[in-house]
Amino acid sequence: MLKDLEILQELQKIDLEIDHLQYNKETFPKHIERLNDTLETEKKKVEEKRQSLLGLEKKKKSLELDLSDKEAKIKKSEEKMMSVKSNEEYQAMKREIEAVRQENGLVEEQILEVMLQVDEVKNALNQFEAQTAKHSQEIKNEIQKVQSDLSHLDELLNEKNQFRQGKIKELPSDTLSVYHRIRTREPLAVSELVHGKCIGCSMALPPQLYNQVQKGDAIHYCPNCLRILVYSVGK
Ligand SMILES: [Zn+2]
Repeated sequence: MLKDLEILQELQKIDLEIDHLQYNKETFPKHIERLNDTLETEKKKVEEKRQSLLGLEKKKKSLELDLSDKEAKIKKSEEKMMSVKSNEEYQAMKREIEAVRQENGLVEEQILEVMLQVDEVKNALNQFEAQTAKHSQEIKNEIQKVQSDLSHLDELLNEKNQFRQGKIKELPSDTLSVYHRIRTREPLAVSELVHGKCIGCSMALPPQLYNQVQKGDAIHYCPNCLRILVYSVGK
């Protein structure tokens, strides 16, 4: 095969690798940002659930205070009852105590209800925290991996670009400018023939052109997509 065709193929391969690295260089920081946002959102969700648990616990505490206030009130009234003189007054106090007792019954029911809610929210929170912890760890690992990849990108790009400079020097300038011209339109400038078709555009080549490309003694172009055609052994 024409030496230039071999070099073009190598140049194409290295340029696609460079494209890929450049793409990663541009997108990795955004990817990291998105992962950090996800971490933040998960943290907020846990915090919200914690707050709602705290709210319920506060509610329970205030109901309990209310209950003990009322019980103290009953106790006081009962003591006072000992020293009342008239039956009327006695009956009035009895009714008053009865009313407070009824209120207490309601408060006790409310406390029970809140206790059930507390249990429910606590269980849900525990479960959610365990899930979130696992997921957050996965995200943190992913961030670390992307950061590490990102930190090696410049080094890799440097290596590839140096290799590329070497390849370019081996090509005649007119061939190189044709290659560059195609590359300004699309990433793939050198297209292999697979099963008689140009892989760049999938068009089947006329048999005569196919034979010429297979011979590989000159540069030929796909009549449809205008890419440089190369024949790959075994394809
Ligand atoms: Zn084509």
